[in-house]
Amino acid sequence: MSTSLHPLHPYVSFLLPCYNESAVVEQTYRRVKAVGDTLGKTYEIVFVNDGSSDDTLDRLVFLSGSDTTVTVIDLSRNHGHQLALSAGLRYCAGDRVLIMDADLQDPPELLPAMLELMDQGAEVVYAQRRSRPGDSLPKRVACSVFYRFLSKLTEVPIPVDTGDFRLISRRVVDIIVQMPERHRFIRGMVSWVGFRQTPILYDRDGRFAGETKYPFWRLMRLALDGIAASSVRPLALASWAGLLFAACSVVLFGYILWSWLFVGRTPQGWASLMMVVTVMGSIQLFVLGIIGQYLGRMHEQVRARPIFIVRDVLRDGRRAGGWERETNGGGAEQRS
Ligand code: UDP
Ligand code: MG
Repeated sequence: MSTSLHPLHPYVSFLLPCYNESAVVEQTYRRVKAVGDTLGKTYEIVFVNDGSSDDTLDRLVFLSGSDTTVTVIDLSRNHGHQLALSAGLRYCAGDRVLIMDADLQDPPELLPAMLELMDQGAEVVYAQRRSRPGDSLPKRVACSVFYRFLSKLTEVPIPVDTGDFRLISRRVVDIIVQMPERHRFIRGMVSWVGFRQTPILYDRDGRFAGETKYPFWRLMRLALDGIAASSVRPLALASWAGLLFAACSVVLFGYILWSWLFVGRTPQGWASLMMVVTVMGSIQLFVLGIIGQYLGRMHEQVRARPIFIVRDVLRDGRRAGGWERETNGGGAEQRS
């Protein structure tokens, strides 16, 4: 079943989340448009304005007014990259959806090759970075370590060195839209769905203009969400750590008993005592912290608020009227 709300039914949807991308949207639009025009197929360009505080929305509205292939999904506030993508996926109408960043780090020119791989039977074609000269060295190292760590943790492997730049079939889009979780790590969710998923190698460019929206702490949060959304192994890890320390304490207990019974004097042992107390204390807090991470996410999930709120859907420079409303995918529409 198609979840599209679009009156037309394009062959490809370009999906671009934008948060304060005023400096790049027009250039991005031109490049995407050029690729779309060479396809010889119908297409739409869907921009999601993720609560930008600059004039990104004005520029997008202008684009939608001058080009009927452009749709703008305006969210009620900044929801974060992954939720902006989720909102966009719900509104994309294409048979195939190309998810890409709005800053031209992901070259849209890769699309024809991706379409070809999909013609050969892949349901997902994910772009894997051969190199990423556009990003700083610490970021490259941190990301590389994270992807390898993550692929060890998850039951369904998430390909390494892969962002959200990928072409997804309608079938997979519909499944992702139906998935109700609010802590969304789209690339993990897409991997989890399965079917045939094929990589395509590319070199990731630098940002065309503007600044990264992923400073260190935000990247850490994405990493945490990625782990917690894709794996429960840290919880198992916590109990294994508990077991290991329990084993250590049995040995320690034996030693204490032995020295009390046979050596005849209990050691002064302030240093060792302090060590045990601090080690045990910190390991307990660490384990509690892991449990807390999951508990917090469960709390938010149980609260069951809509995961994103759409203020407006704009086509032809105006609010698009007469669109059927659907409630799946956890989104909510608020028309002002
Ligand atoms: N983005 C978004 N909402 C946010 C943060 C980022 O929609 O809260 C978009 C951003 O506009 C861009 C994409 O997500 O299109 C990736 O962000 P960015 O390029 O800043 O990340 P980086 O490539 O530096 O990791
Ligand atoms: Mg970027």
